[in-house]
Amino acid sequence: MGYIEPAPIKDKSNPFESMMSRFNIAAEVLGLDEQVYNVLKSPSKQVSVSLPITMDDGSIQVFEGHRVIHSNILGPSKGGVRYAMDVHLDEVKALAAWMTWKCAVVDIPYGGAKGGIRCNPRAMSAGEIERLTRAYTQAMTGVFGPDRDIPAPDMGTGPREMAWLMDEYSRSMGTTVNAVVTGKPLVLGGSLGRVEATGRGVMVSALAAMEKLKINPYHATIAVQGFGNVGSFAALLLEERGCTVVSISDISGAYYNEKGIDIKKAIEYRDGNKGTLEGFTGATLMDKPEDLLTLDVDVLVPAAVEDVIHLGNVDQVKAKLIVEGANGPTSAEADKIINEKGIMAVPDILANAGGVTVSYFEWVQNRLGYKWTRERVNRRSDRIMKDAFDKVYNASQKYDIPMRIAAYVVAIEKVAETYKFRGGF
Ligand code: GLU
Repeated sequence: MGYIEPAPIKDKSNPFESMMSRFNIAAEVLGLDEQVYNVLKSPSKQVSVSLPITMDDGSIQVFEGHRVIHSNILGPSKGGVRYAMDVHLDEVKALAAWMTWKCAVVDIPYGGAKGGIRCNPRAMSAGEIERLTRAYTQAMTGVFGPDRDIPAPDMGTGPREMAWLMDEYSRSMGTTVNAVVTGKPLVLGGSLGRVEATGRGVMVSALAAMEKLKINPYHATIAVQGFGNVGSFAALLLEERGCTVVSISDISGAYYNEKGIDIKKAIEYRDGNKGTLEGFTGATLMDKPEDLLTLDVDVLVPAAVEDVIHLGNVDQVKAKLIVEGANGPTSAEADKIINEKGIMAVPDILANAGGVTVSYFEWVQNRLGYKWTRERVNRRSDRIMKDAFDKVYNASQKYDIPMRIAAYVVAIEKVAETYKFRGGF
């Protein structure tokens, strides 16, 4: 069956509809059973809470928090918790569904979930963030659990928040439960290799795709949008594999250096500069940060936020390959143009699945009460990422469909098959 264009979506800023438009195409390619379709199209559980927090100035501010479990057919649900000002239920729902597909694509035994709190962590003190994280954990005590639902870091959160979450959950349970959350600091049972895992998976996917497109990494130029946990490690590891990273960006702007940016220096600079690249002199500050996306490079890695490649700029994208480090960086409407232009897009649910893969390893180690070496973690996650890439690539060839739809096909096929065996009421 050939590729079917996405149906126009009414509200392009609605991430859940954007996820569904891809899901629908893949369901059609697969000839998905209508009953299974109906089960998978809606999340299995949504919990929204109000969290009153005492701020440092003594005032009380009420924050809105969510946790959505899209599916637990394949196992306990898994997914990060996001702290950002634009968190809303529809976005969390879409991100939860993406986690279901992501875990299925890389074939790890988890369902999908996502959480979020609408807040601006950059404007909050460590104490305020700690109280907010503990309040959220308390509110979600009946949802989370090492066999039920396992949170992890996402935008605006990291090992520090995961430590508070683990501690608060453990206090409620009366015993230390480190397998309730992943992405923890190493001393609390975090895994070696977890911090760089998503960026590493982006590198593995990018190299696998370059091989298919016959792009020599030693001659490849790369632009990476976003210099957080995903983008900075993706840039560093691609540079280590011989690629020339000509552009990087973060909230302070986009930076360009035709000869290649020294990524190690950029990371050191960021770490000593309150986490931003502002004032970085190893490259020139570009006039408009969004121009990074339309640079004449071989590979574009959007590793920041959703919907950055859209109908307004997709025409000008010149890269031959897009590797999605972020979740949902391409709007559903832009897919069509990307395909028409013959650009290969390695989709988020495949390209950034290295993070959840090593989260899975962390959970396995916690349950074993054992610690793997970094080499073992990297070797196993690289193999999982490469196998997943090959599976998706083969499906794209078999059905003559773009990589994005192929990734959904691989994922939905697995979830649907599991559902058939398990059955319903
Ligand atoms: N937040 C990450 C993601 O979107 C990691 C999730 C996890 O490790 O559970 O894939």
